[in-house]
Amino acid sequence: MAFELPKLAYEYTALEPHIDARTMEIHHSKHHNAYVTNLNAALAGTEGENNSIEDICKNISKYAMAVRNNGGGHYNHSLFWSILAPNKGGMPSGKLMDAINTQLGGWEKFKEDFNKAGATRFGSGWAWLCVKADKTLCVCSTPNQDNPLMDIAECQGTPILACDVWEHAYYLHYQNRRPDYMNAFWNVINWDEVSRRYEAAM
Ligand code: MN
Repeated sequence: MAFELPKLAYEYTALEPHIDARTMEIHHSKHHNAYVTNLNAALAGTEGENNSIEDICKNISKYAMAVRNNGGGHYNHSLFWSILAPNKGGMPSGKLMDAINTQLGGWEKFKEDFNKAGATRFGSGWAWLCVKADKTLCVCSTPNQDNPLMDIAECQGTPILACDVWEHAYYLHYQNRRPDYMNAFWNVINWDEVSRRYEAAM
């Protein structure tokens, strides 16, 4: 089965003014679509063709670089769209918030560390909140389209929150102001989905 571009659960305009509709449209229909097309081309006729995207990421060292770049691109963007939604300034609650408070130094410290992970990632990449193998939370970043599921990643874990810090994710609206984009990101996080992923990873 070839991979497919997932449909968004909301309109391209839904995240305005924090993430503008034009950026959303190009990001989803052009950038993500290209990762899917190129991933399918890279896997065609190979043994990996029938594997899940999670399984491919977990064994990425066995695949060609085109699979790492485009498979990472497909996994990362699929996760990213799922954790976005207009949240009206919402925050996590329940077990996830308890874990943020006890393991990451509280809400403000977590936000600061996450923003820093994204802001200090040189060039292109992603900021992550992950559940590590020992079931504790960690904040980190990866370069390019790598992710913490990948066996080659410096930071290992199950991602539950992601922020795309490639320029294509923010340049039309924010130009070079990546920190402004990262601050706006907190207004469009779907915490129900992040919590669901947290509990699934536990
Ligand atoms: Mn992107």
